[in-house]
Amino acid sequence: MKDFNYIIIGGGCAGLSLAYELEINNKLENKSLAIIEPRTNYIRDKTWSFWRIRPHNFEDCVIKSWDNFSVHITDKTNYINCVKTPYQSIDSGLFYNKIIKKLKRNKKISFLKTIENLNVGDAIIFNSLANIKSGKNNLWQHFGGIEIETDKKIFDKEIMNLMDFDCDQKDSVHFFYTLPYSENRALVESTWISNMQDDSEKNYQDQLINYIEKKLKIKNYKIMYKEQGKIPLFYPEIVKKKNEIFIGTAGGMTRLSTGYTFLNIQDHSKYICKNIEKINKIKNFEIQKKYKYLDKIFLKVLTKHPGRMPEIFYNMFTVNNEKVVRFLSNKSNIIDDISIILKMPKTIFIKEII
Ligand SMILES: Cc1cc2nc3c(=O)[nH]c(=O)nc-3n(C[C@H](O)[C@H](O)[C@H](O)COP(=O)(O)OP(=O)(O)OC[C@H]3O[C@@H](n4cnc5c(N)ncnc54)[C@H](O)[C@@H]3O)c2cc1C
Repeated sequence: MKDFNYIIIGGGCAGLSLAYELEINNKLENKSLAIIEPRTNYIRDKTWSFWRIRPHNFEDCVIKSWDNFSVHITDKTNYINCVKTPYQSIDSGLFYNKIIKKLKRNKKISFLKTIENLNVGDAIIFNSLANIKSGKNNLWQHFGGIEIETDKKIFDKEIMNLMDFDCDQKDSVHFFYTLPYSENRALVESTWISNMQDDSEKNYQDQLINYIEKKLKIKNYKIMYKEQGKIPLFYPEIVKKKNEIFIGTAGGMTRLSTGYTFLNIQDHSKYICKNIEKINKIKNFEIQKKYKYLDKIFLKVLTKHPGRMPEIFYNMFTVNNEKVVRFLSNKSNIIDDISIILKMPKTIFIKEII
């Protein structure tokens, strides 16, 4: 049996972010770490995007940053400036490469495929494996995306389209998301918020082709990359064990109203790193309770009134740009919160509170 001071289960976004944070802050100098990860090679599989509300460790993995974004519903578009907190996209391939290259230099870090043969008794375990149960009451943000290259200069690379609701909603919430990396290259995603019971929603490729050809009016393009995923909009079950801390999606780092997780993972990694010597004795890091409470009400409204959601999202973004970005990035103050709440339709929200 091999002994390690720390074991990270899952070398994905949260596991690698934590290992990197510990390594660059010299917290692994006299400690050993095992990272348990079954994949044999790392390739680009995700694009992590967020408003850059503060600096982070992966500025060099950013594919593109935008100072403007738009939200579109059937007959109107809202253009929003976010120059103080640009919207950034990270290429997961660059992220994995950067971290693995750094960690491999430290001989006290081992990459293992399984936890078998490890003495887990004395180690502190950081676990990113989520115990997720599917059920028709559980909401997911699920999506498929393709990165396309066009022969003509078509995209305005200065502005990304966060949400285009002008599409078939099928009694759910559905929008397209377009990240123009250059004038002839963009990632286009078809995103649904639903309980995933309707299989026709999962036909992302057809939805994307239809949107690209009919709505964006692009005829000649090549598909360069594809990604697909689902983010639980509920908290995975946690069975608390001594010496085990859940991280990433498993650790409740997703903002349930939006699916944004990446920057929360970075905040959690910093918290663990700062407190690593006493991590078992301090309280767990979590998304602030006010966001959990507000998101719960928001999702109840979304479940009961999916047809109202395009207008609700649209109105939310008519609040002052900095306020709405702070709110969605968990950095809002009470004035920001009130401004957002006041934009919500009162009757249906009040019904869900009482
Ligand atoms: C396609 C996609 C796009 C996303 N885009 C965004 C975004 O734009 N912005 C944002 O904020 N969030 C986004 N998210 C949400 C979130 O940031 C990601 O899901 C993020 O990867 C979560 O990190 P994680 O470490 O919890 O999970 P993962 O990154 O999935 O890592 C889990 C790791 O565990 C490994 N594993 C699996 N089984 C085992 C096992 N038995 N033992 C050990 N290891 C195992 C997996 O191979 C994987 O490497 C996205 C999610 C997906 C799926």
